[in-house]
This record gives sequence, structure tokens and C-alpha cells, in this order.
Amino acid sequence: MDTAEVPEPADGEVLARVAVALTCATDLKTLDRGHARLTVPGPFGHEWAGTVEAVGDGVLSFGVGDRIVATPTAPCGDCAYCLRGAENLCLHLFEHTALGAYAEYILVPRHIVNRNAFRIPDDVVDVHAAFLEPLACVVHGADLVRLGGDRTVVFVGEGPIALLFMQVARLRGANRVAVVGRHAQRLALARALGADLVIDGRERDVREEVAALSDGLGADTVVECVGHTDAWEQAVGLTRRGGELLFFGGCEAGSAIRLDTERLHYDELTLRGGFHCTPDSVRRAWELICSGALTLDPLVSDQLPLDELPGAFERMRRLEALKVAILP
Ligand SMILES: [Zn+2]
Ligand SMILES: [Zn+2]
Repeated sequence: MDTAEVPEPADGEVLARVAVALTCATDLKTLDRGHARLTVPGPFGHEWAGTVEAVGDGVLSFGVGDRIVATPTAPCGDCAYCLRGAENLCLHLFEHTALGAYAEYILVPRHIVNRNAFRIPDDVVDVHAAFLEPLACVVHGADLVRLGGDRTVVFVGEGPIALLFMQVARLRGANRVAVVGRHAQRLALARALGADLVIDGRERDVREEVAALSDGLGADTVVECVGHTDAWEQAVGLTRRGGELLFFGGCEAGSAIRLDTERLHYDELTLRGGFHCTPDSVRRAWELICSGALTLDPLVSDQLPLDELPGAFERMRRLEALKVAILP
């Protein structure tokens, strides 16, 4: 970006110079198949950390030179959903976003500055801070199902989200954790990050393995982290009678799954979706990052300069990269 294009922050806004942006599977999905909530093509990159370059009038919480991290959205606080406390479902969530972190500068709108932006303390590195948004979504998702106690929790998927969620489940006291995937290296990482069991779906009968882990019953809680209808259907099959399932990965717009009504009714399954984050889950995710309780470094497999962004997505498409740190 040449200096003539550096945006000026309006009242309440913050202009940040991006220090690092992380790639996210959502970006890749959006590129390859569109997104149910975002317009394509549009500005890209929503996981980042940087330094305040300029502030608009009325910004008191940040000064030039502060290190800053923010999520790409914040709720309006005023719509029917915000007023019901379901701020992740805000009707105006995607109207005024901070997207476009694959760039030298990013402009953070006033409502995000006010609700979902933080100053980064000296002992937190930029690349860890940049996990704020995905972790906030995971923290929100983790609030929606039971994880702690004597439970077998199965994750379908072995991408960065599953690897984050798995760690949060452990912190919340999950007793037995299994990760189902199709990629040996990622499964090995899941194991290293604390999974009791990893199951390679290409080689093993996943249902049998999950049954063996759970006295033949099936998982108490299943968390689907793939965003594919096959994975959604597989996840239903792994849930025990009376168990619960969180569909955490968003599928292609307009897609549908086949659901065995007997399982839902006679087996009393609880199936639920989980989407995005709220200012409260963002705040708790930020505290978690600052606490150092999570292992984040192995989730960033590569570092590339901004002009190699297409190559970064190609590596993700081929499952050679987990998350790529893009350095402008
Ligand atoms: Zn993301
Ligand atoms: Zn709202």
C-alpha cells in the first residue's frame, strides 16, 4: 500500500499498522466456495495484531505506539438479539467490520475499538495475540456444551480450531479427549497437545474406536470442527444416547444433512450450532491468551511475507500448512 492510500481514522476509530496476520480456514472457505455471511470478493484477513499508527477524535483507550489486537466484528448492542443477550447473533454484526488484515494497515471501527480491542502487554507476542478471534469463537462454543467432569469428548476435525478447542476442553476438565482426523501429522500434533486418543478416519473404524473409549456407549460430547456435511453426519453417529453435539464448523451455504430421526428422538440427542463470539467470550479469550495457558506456537506452521499470500492459501488447501503467519 503506498502512503497516499493510508486511511485516516474518523471519530472513535483506530488505524493500526499490522505486525502479523494469521490465515484462517474461514478465509480459504470464503475464497473457494463463498461464505454464508460475508460478501466475496471483499477485504480479507481478520486475525491480526499490530501497533496503533493514528487515532481518531475521542479515542481515549489507545494511543499512538500502543500494541493492539481486535476482533473483526462487534455487536451493535441495540438490536433484538443484542437486547436478548445473544450478541453473536446481532443483526448488524457484519455491517461494519474490521477486515483486511492482509495489508500494511487496518482501520478499526469505533464500536470494535470500544468493545473488542485490547492493548497487548509486553509479555504477549503479536502472533499469540492474533489468536484472539478464533479463540473467542472457541470459548463461546465451549460455553454451549458440557465438557468437564467424567466425560468423553470427541472432536471431529484436526485443524487449528479443533486443536484450540481441545485445549480449552482440557482446561475445563474434560476427562477423555479424542480427536478424529485424516492427516497423520495433524493427528500427531493433537496427541502432543494432550489428546488421549487420535483416530485416523482413513484407516480405522471411527465409531468402533469411540465406542471402545466410552464403555461402548459413544461420546458424551461431540464437537464438529470441519464444516463439511460428511463430518456433520459422522459426528451425529459418534454421539451416545443422551449426549450432546456441537456443530462448530460452518458448511457451504444451502447445504443439508440427513438426520436419522430415531436417533434424535429415541436417543434424546441434543444437537446445537455454535457461531462466532460475544464481547464476553472475547474478553475471556483474551485473558486466556495473556495467561499463557494455551500452546499456540505449533498451530502456526509457516511464516510468509504478504506478497506470498496466494502461496500460503495453496499450502493450506493442500493441508501442508495449519495457520500461516503473514508478515506485511
Ligand atoms: Zn478466523
Ligand atoms: Zn445487535
